[in-house]
Amino acid sequence: MSDTEIEPPAGSAERFLADRVALVTGASRGIGRAIAERLAARGAKLACVATRAENCEETVAACRAAGAEAHAFGVDVADTAAVAELVKSVQEEVGPIYVLVNNAGITRDQLLLRMDEEDFDRVVDVNLKGTWNFVRAAARSLMKSHGRIVNVSSVVGITGNVGQVNYAASKAGVFGITRSAAKELAPRGVCVNAIAPGYIETDMTAEIDEAAAKELKNHIPLKRIGTAEEVALAVDYLVGPGGAYITGQTLVVDGGLSI
Ligand code: NAD
Repeated sequence: MSDTEIEPPAGSAERFLADRVALVTGASRGIGRAIAERLAARGAKLACVATRAENCEETVAACRAAGAEAHAFGVDVADTAAVAELVKSVQEEVGPIYVLVNNAGITRDQLLLRMDEEDFDRVVDVNLKGTWNFVRAAARSLMKSHGRIVNVSSVVGITGNVGQVNYAASKAGVFGITRSAAKELAPRGVCVNAIAPGYIETDMTAEIDEAAAKELKNHIPLKRIGTAEEVALAVDYLVGPGGAYITGQTLVVDGGLSI
């Protein structure tokens, strides 16, 4: 830096979301919690959403400990009317939304022939319709703030997986929402991208037994399972200065699993 340049205030580059509102779904644990905490470290005001608001208490406490304002909200992301109400409350109580992270998701695995209609519908309702519910409800706010949307999909939405036709279909659909919304919202200055994690250590993957986990690691070129924080860092990039000219894309965070 030359001596004629004015030095930015200390820490300002790190806090690029200062006072901007970030809404993260599925923020009570796992990847969503790691994302909320990372965005809190960037100075964002957090709206942490899970099925029940009280489930987000620990996340909210961690965000506050990082010096951020944080609030907990409860909703079933699959409930269109309830999501519209919730997004309205967030805007009234916290402020206009700048970052929307659609992370809430579930699995109900079963082989194709054994999967019943309810298991198919519920996974699609939560993972796919839940994403649409929030994108639609928050779109006006994001257009005003020229904000960013990150949808958490999965490598399974690209590769497919045995026992996961419902999950793979829902996550492939998330790419469709991402690219279409990116095209629709680009003229209004909103960037919309997807993250596709591979195997990440969370409660969702905790049921995999030790032998299967070992076998899995052998298939991952980087030879290890990823962490929620590593996914959060990818979100951090897309909602930060680095993501300003990126839209409609998928950032794969899988240790090379899908190559
Ligand atoms: P997790 O099961 O640990 O957490 C899921 C979160 O979603 C929780 O906060 C839960 O309350 C919330 N949630 C679930 N159903 C909801 C509903 N109907 N309404 C509101 N909130 C709801 O899962 P995770 O491993 O942290 O996964 C987070 C996201 O990442 C999911 O979309 C998942 O599909 C995706 N993903 C995870 C992995 C992995 O290996 N863990 C890999 C690829 C993609």
